[in-house]
Amino acid sequence: MVVVMQPQATEEHILGVDARLTAVGFRTQVIYGVKRTVVAAVGDRRVIESLGLEALPGVEKVVPIMKPFKLASREVKEENTVIQVKGATIGGKELAVIAGPCAVESREQLMEAAWAAQEAGARFLRGGAFKPRTSPYSFQGMEEQGLKLLAEASELTGMVTVSEVIDEESLAMALDYIDILQIGTRNMQNFRLLKAAGKSGKPILLKRGLSATVEEWLMAAEYVMSEGNQNVILCERGIRTFESYTRNTLDLSAVPLVQGLSHLPVVVDPSHATGKRDLVLPMAMAAVAAGASGLLVEMHPDPSRALCDGPQSLSPREFAQLMEKIRPVAAAVGKTL
Ligand code: PEP
Ligand code: MN
Repeated sequence: MVVVMQPQATEEHILGVDARLTAVGFRTQVIYGVKRTVVAAVGDRRVIESLGLEALPGVEKVVPIMKPFKLASREVKEENTVIQVKGATIGGKELAVIAGPCAVESREQLMEAAWAAQEAGARFLRGGAFKPRTSPYSFQGMEEQGLKLLAEASELTGMVTVSEVIDEESLAMALDYIDILQIGTRNMQNFRLLKAAGKSGKPILLKRGLSATVEEWLMAAEYVMSEGNQNVILCERGIRTFESYTRNTLDLSAVPLVQGLSHLPVVVDPSHATGKRDLVLPMAMAAVAAGASGLLVEMHPDPSRALCDGPQSLSPREFAQLMEKIRPVAAAVGKTL
């Protein structure tokens, strides 16, 4: 249920509603929108209805949320969520471009990638320090050393960092170094990790699971949000189908679909979605045209030597070309780069 407050409701009115709900054991969240504030409470509808909340000062109406995801739903918050991190935004007018290598491999590799990404106009730097690999024999990441390098690269270039956490331990470690925590495809339904992400206080980039439906994906976001963290960025990165020429199948229709269902920003990762360097640019352009709030693109100073995901990684030159090619597409859909 959400309690919609009147436009002129005061903070005291809001707290009054909140107190009434928490007094009878509901977990609540106050969501401050531009037009109106709502108090969301998840729980038995009949109990909420019996509280007579409509009679409290400042309350406009009490409405049930029909969707299984509540806090993530457009029904709770009409306007788009815009996430602000260190002066950059995701979900607003500015297209958020996240670029960098699949994995942090060395200081030299990361700094080269960071400067190239920054010079081409990206504001977000990615790099995996904990790599969830299909094979236990593949490179597993530099772990804390990798996180330290990302923090250093951010210090030098001013970029906002994004890095994947794979369990509660790596999440705790990343808190000191990383701006946006990524939860990967393989962990989209790791519910304990989602809850820990909710408590972390950091923005969360939540990738769609390999075989996840849109509803399962939004329910995963709900896990993070129900712990008090409203800053969730959804990332469409392709889903598993019978097609084998591409690594995954990019579900671009998920972008406008999710935007209709949720107020959260949706970004697209054409690198993991296709697994092929040549397909990254056309799919990046298509994603921007479809209205994505941003892109996540793998770029490596020397893709042929990458320890992870080389075949889908762009060179710095190719990445700079991509940025130029998406600029007019962004402008055509009212976004800036
Ligand atoms: C990654 O971003 O490098 C990654 C492992 O992504 P995904 O979880 O989408 O496979
Ligand atoms: Mn990768």
